[in-house]
Amino acid sequence: MSRTATIVGAGIFGSSLAYRLAREGWAVTLYERHEPGHPGAASGGESRLIRYAHGSGDWYARSAWRARNLWRELEAETGRELLVETGLAWFAHSEDGWEAESERVLRAEGIPVERLEPDAGRELFPSFEPDDLEFILWEPQAGVLRAREATKATVAAAEGAGVRLRSEVAEPGSVDGDVVVWACGAWLRELFGLPIRVTKQDTLYFAAGGWTSPPLPAWVDYSNAIYGHGDLDELGVKVAPDQEGPPFDPERGARVVSPETEHAARAYLSKRFPALRDAPIRHASVCQYALTTDTNFVLAPHPQRTGEWIFGGGSGHGFKHGPALAEYAADVVTGEREPDLQFGLGPRDAGPSLRTAGTA
Ligand SMILES: Cc1cc2nc3c(=O)[nH]c(=O)nc-3n(C[C@H](O)[C@H](O)[C@H](O)COP(=O)(O)OP(=O)(O)OC[C@H]3O[C@@H](n4cnc5c(N)ncnc54)[C@H](O)[C@@H]3O)c2cc1C
Repeated sequence: MSRTATIVGAGIFGSSLAYRLAREGWAVTLYERHEPGHPGAASGGESRLIRYAHGSGDWYARSAWRARNLWRELEAETGRELLVETGLAWFAHSEDGWEAESERVLRAEGIPVERLEPDAGRELFPSFEPDDLEFILWEPQAGVLRAREATKATVAAAEGAGVRLRSEVAEPGSVDGDVVVWACGAWLRELFGLPIRVTKQDTLYFAAGGWTSPPLPAWVDYSNAIYGHGDLDELGVKVAPDQEGPPFDPERGARVVSPETEHAARAYLSKRFPALRDAPIRHASVCQYALTTDTNFVLAPHPQRTGEWIFGGGSGHGFKHGPALAEYAADVVTGEREPDLQFGLGPRDAGPSLRTAGTA
């Protein structure tokens, strides 16, 4: 008889794990309190960047690169275009910062990367001011994932592999299985009193002709904690200030973009992409980060409940890793490998952030 797994939460962490375990022969039940890919889930956003650069974080570089292959496999299985390979430009402000460290790791891992002169930005974007930059780190195979669609595609593929989806809230103590995994994103904080910070994050989309991605690449200004990409699927040009927002309740919080976010976005646009300075807003969305102290993810046994695991802490950079992280997590929760201490529930120190906001 096959072993049973219960996964709670059909975000990209939970649904990818459910799909992986089902393909390994487990009988899997996946609980979701809303519908998979709903706009209140971190995995329900319109788009998420996929990049391989993670500063000195070589584990994450390898994971994101592995995920790229798995996203392509999911596309082949589902017939949907989920990963749009636009390329990604990192705007580097110093010779020895995050970007230089990323370049060293990517070259060591054999992941494609190039160093461009700041002026090359003028060929990448219709309007570009490079004066404060030392160089551009170019990741030709990075790009943008259609996140909501990818989450729905993962759930559909999981159901196709035999996963039973239950549209219910699961409470601790109310579900069982040989393995139970709580992959509840920002909801984990309240469920288990986890030390994660849940913050409100606003994203803006500006209307502008001639800024379509592709061919426009995605971009990240790590030092200024802001990133975006061109107009994909006619939503508008995405600009997302990445400073940590105020505390947020994922179930009851008001999803209204703050005027400060628009101010920060326009200030940056005026400086970097001057032609967009007065572009009208076409669309806006609010989502939440589930941040650990050091921005490493969480995959750890529940301290009191044998056979139960906590999986989350996406920390604003988890989406791209979904299918690769699921391979790793499946090995851990089924006892094939030991959980890595960096994902544990023990104390953590704040280090350089693995998402974009690190130094600003
Ligand atoms: C604005 C923003 C921008 C981001 N940008 C990027 C990016 O560019 N690149 C990147 O890789 N990552 C990015 N991320 C991070 C990424 O989106 C998250 O790390 C990832 O989606 C987390 O997935 P998850 O499955 O852990 O959580 P979620 O997607 O939040 O899923 C958790 C699910 O659990 C369900 N749930 C909760 N409690 C229960 C319960 N008791 N019973 C049943 N169901 C329950 C919820 O309804 C939800 O659907 C960004 C995040 C945000 C908010």
